[in-house]
Amino acid sequence: MTQTAPVTTQAREQLDSLDPRNGAVIATYPVHAAEEVAAVVAAARVAAQVWGALPHAERRAVLLAWRAALARGADELARVVSRETGKPLDDARLEVSLVIDHVQWAARNAERVLRRHSVSPGLMMANQRASVEHKPFGVVGVIGPWNYPAFTPMGSIVYALAAGNTVVFKPSELTPGVGRWLVDSLAPLAPVDVLQLVTGHGATGAALCTAGVDKVAFTGSTTTAKKVMAACADTLTPVVLECGGKDAMIVDADADLDAAADAAVWGGMSNSGQTCIGMERVYVVDAVHDRFVELVSARARALTPGATDDDDYGPMTMADQVDVVRGHLDSALAAGATAVVGGRESVRAPYVDPVVLLGVPEDCAAVTEETFGPVLVVNRVADVDEAVERANAGRYGLGASVFAKARGAEIAERLRVGMVAVNSVISFTAVAELPFGGVGDSGFGRIHGADGLREFTRTHAVVEQRFALPVKLMSFDRSPRVAGLLVGVLKVLRGR
Ligand code: NDP
Repeated sequence: MTQTAPVTTQAREQLDSLDPRNGAVIATYPVHAAEEVAAVVAAARVAAQVWGALPHAERRAVLLAWRAALARGADELARVVSRETGKPLDDARLEVSLVIDHVQWAARNAERVLRRHSVSPGLMMANQRASVEHKPFGVVGVIGPWNYPAFTPMGSIVYALAAGNTVVFKPSELTPGVGRWLVDSLAPLAPVDVLQLVTGHGATGAALCTAGVDKVAFTGSTTTAKKVMAACADTLTPVVLECGGKDAMIVDADADLDAAADAAVWGGMSNSGQTCIGMERVYVVDAVHDRFVELVSARARALTPGATDDDDYGPMTMADQVDVVRGHLDSALAAGATAVVGGRESVRAPYVDPVVLLGVPEDCAAVTEETFGPVLVVNRVADVDEAVERANAGRYGLGASVFAKARGAEIAERLRVGMVAVNSVISFTAVAELPFGGVGDSGFGRIHGADGLREFTRTHAVVEQRFALPVKLMSFDRSPRVAGLLVGVLKVLRGR
């Protein structure tokens, strides 16, 4: 399939998608105005009547066919991702591979997780049959970011579709071509238009929130998430918010230091550090701090950012982020941090060379705010307790990583985050069955896994009377003796 610019005659404005490596225009897309977004949502509502009424098996067949199309087109999709983000092709291939695995899991497991199932009616309602089903909402609006423009929105799109919803997708203005490709790849396989695209800037995303969708799945910055939630408050439209992070790694004294250094550098600097669950802070216990710094520095110095697929990572995709990275570096260095790799001179837009900072005061923006660049803060701590305290101190709580032999699971248990990888980094994203999401300023709600399927459903509870009880509990005909009898029975059974 070739990437084609969509044609919408009513669109008044247009936006260009650019190659961030050289500023070349890749394609032009319409900027959809609020009325157009509302019309697309209305069409999606009609499609939802058909899609939502299909048996799970039929939806599964469509989604598995999509999985196969994605697998066959993986290289082509990866090229679109690579061109719009500037990331090397192999990184884009990894991203697309993760997408395919999630389509597979959601398609295969939706029926098992969501179908009506019996629950115990309990003692007082023993004459009832009780059951729960998770039914689709109808139309879900998905708003996505640019850093993993296929993987992050698909974490919502695929699970929402598998749960029986139709989806209207607003990709980042930086990556509309990826959105177009995804929508076009599903269209010939589905009985109706289950996935539709609206393109534009923030205003188009804002319009989607108030266009009559039944749920909004937002992935992006915490600042925008607050606007999305405020826009949805008026209609009590539920939201799932996947926001930024400031993920920490903890390295204990018995850790495999080479593996930890490899994970810290890859987790912090791949994709130019533009990863919501990227490593931004590393807390290393005193006994192994210096050795760890040597290993990290050697690995970081060897990295080459650049425009070719052989480079280790590409440019900053969003030009403005370069200023944020520069600001974090400046304030950390002014506050007494030491750069052992790179420094101020590493920022040479659109690229940022690897930077490793040591001894950054904990109140610096480089520790408290999302840097979203290839900058790793490595701070020395006395012990694991101090590491946990510092890791948990921030307002974000997305993911984390722990490198330790004896105490890995124990440390993981104590971290206030949505996901932790022990002796690896970022790996939880690749386990389709694990829920993905954060706490605090990292948002709430979950995508992926069974939680991610249920996130896109309304829970429907039914009790059905199997036989009438000789005594009536919920009736004005209730005998005055019944309530006393009930309490007497409960005292015997529950009072111990
Ligand atoms: P933004 O918050 O800038 O934008 C996210 C999306 O929201 C874009 O499609 C954007 O459109 C749209 N948008 C902008 N304004 C509004 C509005 N008022 N109402 C509705 N939608 C709006 O984030 P970025 O695209 O810059 O992505 C980077 C951020 O995403 C980082 O903070 C990163 O941590 C986070 N992220 C979180 C992930 C997670 O799963 N927790 C995963 C990946 C990234 P437009 O681009 O056209 O402005």
